[in-house]
Amino acid sequence: MAYTVYIGIGSNLGDRAGNCEKAVALLGRHNEIEVLKVSKWRETKALTRGNGEQPLYINGAVKISTRMNPRELLSVLQSIEAKLGRPAKREKWAPRTIDLDILYHGDAVVNEPDLVIPHPEILKRKFVMEPLCDIEPTLFSKGEI
Ligand code: AMP
Repeated sequence: MAYTVYIGIGSNLGDRAGNCEKAVALLGRHNEIEVLKVSKWRETKALTRGNGEQPLYINGAVKISTRMNPRELLSVLQSIEAKLGRPAKREKWAPRTIDLDILYHGDAVVNEPDLVIPHPEILKRKFVMEPLCDIEPTLFSKGEI
């Protein structure tokens, strides 16, 4: 069965737009992922936890179709993050070359220490909501989510 999945993308280090575009290209090149829609890119202020100013982010989101389950997909996202230069060990609020988050995965609800779906911050973050509304304007009004 193929799932419809929304992935949030962000970068605030290096060639930010290039990193986001490369992440989309790598997703599309994976033989179990079909990229269906890509949002606009937006420049947004970084969320910080009292550790000073950070460079602005470029944020966006994609809609994909995949047969992979949430955990298989997370591992693909982490390997794309590693390919784009993000260290495996990192501080939670540190700047990053790329950040890929599973926002929704079909109607899956996952509550594990290292994987929470739907992503708990979606409704609180304009930089997630706006790209989601670009690619799926009726996402929150049709009862699909
Ligand atoms: P962060 O540094 O905020 O990007 O957090 C990265 C970690 O969040 C990853 O190592 C994942 O294990 C964990 N995580 C929890 N829920 C999700 C999700 N829905 N999508 C991606 N990563 C997640």
